[in-house]
Amino acid sequence: MPYLNSLRNRFIITLSIMLVLVMSILVFILHQLMIPNLISEERQSAHVYANALQMSIDHHARTLSDMAHEWASWASTRDFMENHLPDFPQTHITSAVFDEHGADLMLITNAHDGVTWVAGRNPVTGAFTSCATPTGECQWALDQVRQIQRQLPETDTTARMGVSPAFGLLSTWPIAHRASTLSSGKLTLVRFLPGQWQLDPADTASTLTLSAVRQDMTAGNNAPVVAIDSISDDSLRLTLLRDSATPGYQVMMTTRLDRDGLRDGIQRFNLTMLGALALLLVLMVIMLWVFRAMVLRPITELSRYASALRQSPGEHLDAPPPWLQARGDELGIMAREFQTLIQELNERNAHLKALTNRDALTGLGNRRLLDRQLPRILSLTHRLERPVALIMIDVDHFKLYNDFYGHPEGDQCLKTIAETLGDIFQRESDLVARIGGEEFVIVLPDFDLDRAMDIARGVCTAMEAQCLPHEPSPTHRYVTISAGVAISSPEHPLSGEALIKQADEALYQIKKSSRNAVGCAAPS
Ligand code: GH3
Ligand code: MG
Ligand code: MG
Repeated sequence: MPYLNSLRNRFIITLSIMLVLVMSILVFILHQLMIPNLISEERQSAHVYANALQMSIDHHARTLSDMAHEWASWASTRDFMENHLPDFPQTHITSAVFDEHGADLMLITNAHDGVTWVAGRNPVTGAFTSCATPTGECQWALDQVRQIQRQLPETDTTARMGVSPAFGLLSTWPIAHRASTLSSGKLTLVRFLPGQWQLDPADTASTLTLSAVRQDMTAGNNAPVVAIDSISDDSLRLTLLRDSATPGYQVMMTTRLDRDGLRDGIQRFNLTMLGALALLLVLMVIMLWVFRAMVLRPITELSRYASALRQSPGEHLDAPPPWLQARGDELGIMAREFQTLIQELNERNAHLKALTNRDALTGLGNRRLLDRQLPRILSLTHRLERPVALIMIDVDHFKLYNDFYGHPEGDQCLKTIAETLGDIFQRESDLVARIGGEEFVIVLPDFDLDRAMDIARGVCTAMEAQCLPHEPSPTHRYVTISAGVAISSPEHPLSGEALIKQADEALYQIKKSSRNAVGCAAPS
């Protein structure tokens, strides 16, 4: 994948994978730890709220029970039951008393649970009625009275909840007998409860929906008193169960609780995750920038330098940027090493180049150098309107020399000739080269034929004067050379090749007749 070949892209991919990994871990933490924790906390607080509701119901029941107890233990009530105070209902059981204590119905029964007096507020009309029997204007209370008569407890005086014919809180207390400890009757107070009973006016969640359930519909006596179910993501249902005064029935009270805590918790965590994501993204950009500045840019700079070097081989390029070489880190070391390497390579190249133009035995220029330089010398000198002379030198009877003295001696002889030539031709513009076995060429810019012939003769003399013995030579006692001279003038310019050929021809011609002699090419 070419995309992966970029260090930058690899770095981005690595960072992205890390980002996804961190986010996955955070989501895992949310789902496996945070949400179960929040749900357990939510359930705990729902239980606390359920306890508060139970206590509130108990408080309402206790208030009613206290009131019923007060009425039942009152001397006037006892007197009324014993017929000492016949106008008690008219004087004491008034509507104001009901308003004041929040009760809706009062039933006084005799020792045989027969109705002695009934009073209360008609829930339909709101009218207060007070009668000796639940008939006439108190007819509305008939069902309630019968139900209460059926449920009158023998001893239990705590407030109970009734479900029939309507929901209500009931509390029954015995009315003490003056002469004995026996009761002379019972007084029951009822507070009707609406189907939607709001326990705390300031708290709408405290509104309980009341319903009657048969006892066998619940899980018997082991039925949970408090149940909490999740009905949606937004709300919980809280169910409270209480025994009712009506046999076989229980009162079920339900309310809906908002799941604000859970929602807020998840929202807070989501915000934290978003914050973490933003932070990670910012970190990623900063890391990318730092990576680019610290690593990518120097590497790019180095590779750009290397590629420029490759595209222009042999040319001396500037070093890698100084700021890169000045760095103290690994990249700085790399740049400096790179620079040293390039320097060494340049030096070796120069050395190699020099070697390719030199004759290994004599250290003079070689054929290659001659072929490269001669055209330049010719063109430059002709441009200055001056002639160029070329002398071709060949050692006389060198084969015999070699055969007689041996090859190493022959080499030594060639070196001596080279040294002699080096001593004679010291101008910077002169070019001396060994172009073959025992053949040398001298290129002399700004030399006419006469001067060239003169100096060629001088070379022959100088060579003979070295007095290198040449016993097998049939012509001379010492090593001698012969030379052919050719000229290229601005008037009759020659190519390098033609000039060499003419000198070679002149040499050949002179060698045909003599040795230790100089010949020149016929002027063209
Ligand atoms: P002439 O006077 O006609 O030039 O006779 P010559 O023997 O010099 O010419 P020829 O071309 O027959 O022989 C050239 C000899 O040069 C042959 C070879 O042994 C010798 N020679 C060529 N290159 C080298 C070299 O590098 N070292 C040595 N020692 N001898 C060489
Ligand atoms: Mg030869
Ligand atoms: Mg020779």
